[in-house]
Amino acid sequence: MATARLLLLTVAAAVAGSCFCSGQEAKPPPYCGSVRTAVEAHNIIGWKTFTADCAKYIADYMTGDRYTRDADVVINEAIAYAESLKLSGSGKEIWVFDVDETALSTLPYQANRGYGVQPYDQASFIQYVTEGSAPALQGTLRLYQRLLQLGIKPVFLTDRTEDQRTVTTNNLLSQGYCSWEKLLLKPVELQTSTQAFKIEERKKLVDAGYVIVGNIGDQWTDILGSPEGCRTFKYPNPMYYVA
Ligand SMILES: [Mg+2]
Repeated sequence: MATARLLLLTVAAAVAGSCFCSGQEAKPPPYCGSVRTAVEAHNIIGWKTFTADCAKYIADYMTGDRYTRDADVVINEAIAYAESLKLSGSGKEIWVFDVDETALSTLPYQANRGYGVQPYDQASFIQYVTEGSAPALQGTLRLYQRLLQLGIKPVFLTDRTEDQRTVTTNNLLSQGYCSWEKLLLKPVELQTSTQAFKIEERKKLVDAGYVIVGNIGDQWTDILGSPEGCRTFKYPNPMYYVA
């Protein structure tokens, strides 16, 4: 009898234990948030992916409200800065926007790639871009609309390639970016880095008499290198790094 009671207690404890365990979600390691901060601050450069143990952290960050709130802080600051400017009236003041993860979001694609935890795959990324369905990042759209009201002309400068001009144009238009001064895409055969390409294009803009009053991008390579613009804004993106 005593043996039977002991057996029953043991089984009950095991069942209770398994119920308790199945209800628990593994917490991401605490350093994931610190790594993200270091990535955004450009203290970590040239990284390929977040480690797999931070997959849940990145997914929660991108799909929860934190990503949007972080972006809104950047956008609100950019709008306040733009509103403080005394424009010349020449019509030559421009604002440079990157496209992917700045004007448009590839989050629907990234969701299937572990939000950057899986290594970059060019073929599937290009396929997503070609669909032309990337949604606008609403904060950036808000900045864009305010700049138009102020008389600052938008220029899109992207490492998307020239053969993606039509799909990029249509995608931007469909998402509410209704006009722009220029849409600058990378020549298909160009071998230089994204950063070198963007610096060269900004030089051409300045040489043509434009004043780059602001420049916003999700990569440091969007905003580093003279002429970078009178003021730069780093849009958050912990999913991938572009050299
Ligand atoms: Mg980008």
